[in-house]
Order: sequence, then C-alpha cells, then structure tokens
Amino acid sequence: MNHTCPYCGAGWQDENENCESVFNAFLALEFNQPLFYGRVHMLTVACFMIQHNRYSDEALVWMERQLHDFLHEGKSVNQIRARTGREVQQNKRSWRMSRQEGDRCLAKVNWSMNILDVARAYADAESYCTLITRWAELTLHEMGPLLPG
Ligand SMILES: [Zn+2]
Repeated sequence: MNHTCPYCGAGWQDENENCESVFNAFLALEFNQPLFYGRVHMLTVACFMIQHNRYSDEALVWMERQLHDFLHEGKSVNQIRARTGREVQQNKRSWRMSRQEGDRCLAKVNWSMNILDVARAYADAESYCTLITRWAELTLHEMGPLLPG
C-alpha cells in the first residue's frame, strides 16, 4: 500500500518505513563517518526539521539565516557552529527550538525534494553530500511561506 508523508510529501510503499526512520539512518551514517557523511550534518537536520514542521517560528527565522549564510555567503560549518553556540546561549530563555501544540498553523509547501529523494539516489559519501546540499538549497528557496509574516 502506498502512503504519503503529510509534511514533506514523500511517498512510501512500505508502511514500516517513514521519513523519521530514514532520518535516523542518515544520522547514524553521519555520526559514524563524520569526515565523509557528517560534513553535511547541519543541512540534514535543518532540512528534515523544516520540512516536518518541527521548528518554532523563532527557529525557522534563525535557521533560514544559517542556511543562507552557509549556502550563499560561504560561511563554514565551524563559523556557524561558533555563532550557534553563542546565540543559543544568549537566547536560551527567550525562545525555544521546537514547535509545540498551540503554535500557529504552518502553510503547506509542495517541496520539490524530500528526504526520500536523497535516500533513493545516493551511492556514496560524495553523492550523499551533493544531494543533501541540493536538498538544502531547495528547502531554503521554498521555505518562505513557513516564515512568520
Ligand atoms: Zn516526510
């Protein structure tokens, strides 16, 4: 039986599989091989969370900027990580990362690429990183309707 992820639109044949199980498999790969698969870790997490409505409004705005700086301004993961540490420390009391019940409803986005597209297409660490980066570019480009007005 086919089923579709209500958030990112990925289509599944096997009911025991879903975006979360693929995400967990990706994380395991990235943690086990940090110099190869792990290079895009920040992007994997950001794309999954954005496409599955996991981020609070504040986190969406903030993550949009991180993706922009990384993909278009040439900021390195280490630079972003250093800033993340500082800002999360400063913001700890004023905002939360996760979306909660009662938060505003998010617009539906027809994502042109989702986690399953990466899972089906990658063959090795190099193609994995290329696909995750492409996924992040498209997610950044298409996430506008999710941002608070
Ligand atoms: Zn999904």
